[in-house]
Amino acid sequence: MKPQAEGVKLSEPTVLKNQKCPMCMKDTLTVYEYQTEVPHFGTAYLFSVECSNCGFKLSDVEFENSLNPVKWTFIVENEDDLKPLVVKSSQALVKLGNIMKMEPGIGSDGFITTVEGLILRGKEILQQLYESEEDKDEKKKIWDLIKKLNKVLWGNAKLKIVIEDPYGNSAIVSEKAKKEALKVKKK
Ligand SMILES: [Zn+2]
Repeated sequence: MKPQAEGVKLSEPTVLKNQKCPMCMKDTLTVYEYQTEVPHFGTAYLFSVECSNCGFKLSDVEFENSLNPVKWTFIVENEDDLKPLVVKSSQALVKLGNIMKMEPGIGSDGFITTVEGLILRGKEILQQLYESEEDKDEKKKIWDLIKKLNKVLWGNAKLKIVIEDPYGNSAIVSEKAKKEALKVKKK
């Protein structure tokens, strides 16, 4: 399984077979590690793991030199703003305006894509919600959110994208992107 990486070239993978699966504890996990160069950020590693026994799957991305806890803000204003690369780790929280959030943690994959690819992922999540929702009013609300994302993809609306990564393995590769230190809540 190849992790999602749009707009960058991946190396041949290093493959580790017969690793212990964290879910079923059998030695049936295969780990694939790819390397790529992200402009201005250096080497990044993309991993994906797949268990042939229980079907567990995961992919993630990590910079060779991770940043400090980071908050990125980027405003999509026109079609050119859909092109910059986005690196999103599994630990990152993504906000697409007030439209939707992608929460970090279990079930959240790390990937490299473009701003457009990120918005398309958000749209896919909303479409799945739309299909599984049975309440008519809720369905209509989700449909309106999908329409808002479509307008952004067509260059007809602005969108503020925020990515918060407490481990510093996420980035928006554009001079227009604003980078701030992320305040990490202490427990
Ligand atoms: Zn397993």
